[in-house]
Amino acid sequence: MKKPENIMTPAKEHDSAGSGEIAAASAPQYRIGNGYDVHALAKGLPLIVCGVEIEHSKGCIAHSDGDTPLHALCDALLGALALGDIGKHFPDKSEEYRGIDSKILLTKVCEMVKDRGYRLVNADITIILQSPRLSPYTDRMRQTVAGVLNCDLSRISVKATTTEHLGFTGREEGISAFATVLLERSSA
Ligand SMILES: [Zn+2]
Repeated sequence: MKKPENIMTPAKEHDSAGSGEIAAASAPQYRIGNGYDVHALAKGLPLIVCGVEIEHSKGCIAHSDGDTPLHALCDALLGALALGDIGKHFPDKSEEYRGIDSKILLTKVCEMVKDRGYRLVNADITIILQSPRLSPYTDRMRQTVAGVLNCDLSRISVKATTTEHLGFTGREEGISAFATVLLERSSA
């Protein structure tokens, strides 16, 4: 019979070097993570959302391609495994990441998740943008994200909303995104 996990001994879930990383032997079966990201919008820049280029007069000011929901998703995946955030792994001062396709960043984060013995159960993404309406694009966004994560489409949710003209997103000064993920252990 499988020994029940004792939630009162969290120290055993970490390696002896004290790095705070999860040790495989006693790692929890499930881990949850959330991520949030914002980018300012400016005229004449490309607007890339979940790997899909959106027709619009404005795009994101960013060191990378400014794919806000993919950054939130990376942060959610990293957060689920307590691996820090996207800025720690891909510094925005680094020339290596200037203008980089965020799908490449997401691929690298997925490798980290896999290396630590976890896989995605599901991801739920909410994009907040006043204009244009993203509903015509959300199916393509889901397909793009599922393709990068190499998972079934049913595991990826992409939703879009506005803030009814309130706040910085409502004034069309920026775009923001939330992502929530659940991971499960893929190895003993
Ligand atoms: Zn970002």
